Amino acid sequence: PRAQKSELVARDLTVRFGGLTALAKASLRVKPGEVHALIGPNGAGKSTFVNTISGFYQPSEGDFELDGIQLAGKPSHEIARAGLSRTFQNTELFGEMTVLENVMVGYQQRLGYGLFAALLRTGAMRREDAECRRAAIGLLVFVGLQDYANEEARFLPFGLQRRLEIARALAARPRLLLLDEPAAGLTTQEIDELEAMIRRIAALGVSVLLIEHHVELIMAVADTVTVLDYGQVIASDAPAVVQENPRVIEAYFGT
Ligand code: ADP
Ligand code: MG
Repeated sequence: PRAQKSELVARDLTVRFGGLTALAKASLRVKPGEVHALIGPNGAGKSTFVNTISGFYQPSEGDFELDGIQLAGKPSHEIARAGLSRTFQNTELFGEMTVLENVMVGYQQRLGYGLFAALLRTGAMRREDAECRRAAIGLLVFVGLQDYANEEARFLPFGLQRRLEIARALAARPRLLLLDEPAAGLTTQEIDELEAMIRRIAALGVSVLLIEHHVELIMAVADTVTVLDYGQVIASDAPAVVQENPRVIEAYFGT
């Protein structure tokens, strides 16, 4: 994590899939150091938003920037290098690698190696990787996985795999961390632990954009909540305010 707190500004992002408008002039601002939740009914465009600002989809209109640096149209690895790191809705770990090696891949990528070069280097465990190794262990301590460092990732229980994914995303030293449904499939206790972890990440100065369905988690941890419905932003405010917004209630419970 870097000393400077970062700001994401997305303006009028429009994404179309054939005749379907998945995002319609969606604007959103993640203020420096805040935890910002992006919510909305299924199909509202949340994943499309995340996939767009991480460079997997190209917007047909609009743009977005991180700390004043224009990123629309840039490839995903360049966006990652600019400081935006993400986890996926479905965990994507390297199952046959150890927990520690999975985090080391994140570091190697930050150093500018492509994914496959990073994998090869990590596998080889070179002597010059000592520093990377030390930093990776530090992150395992941060997420509470230090006792599992040498286990193969695929043998971790699901909840711990989720934590490992967050550790790997943090290894890239993001300014903004995108978490796509991190609470999905977790137990109540694991969700409490996730909440504490999100707070600790924000305390490091990393801004967080949280896609989530779990209402209690959002209310507990988010500074700002933005609501998408049919690709449009219908509200963006403090959680307690958004909760009372008639349009939001309509979007969730209306016919
Ligand atoms: P959410 O994550 O809020 O559930 P999505 O962003 O996944 O919503 O989807 C928004 C809309 O865009 C949906 O109607 C979905 O079917 C459509 N969509 C998403 N991704 C694609 C894609 N790659 N190709 C075609 N349609 C897509
Ligand atoms: Mg989704």
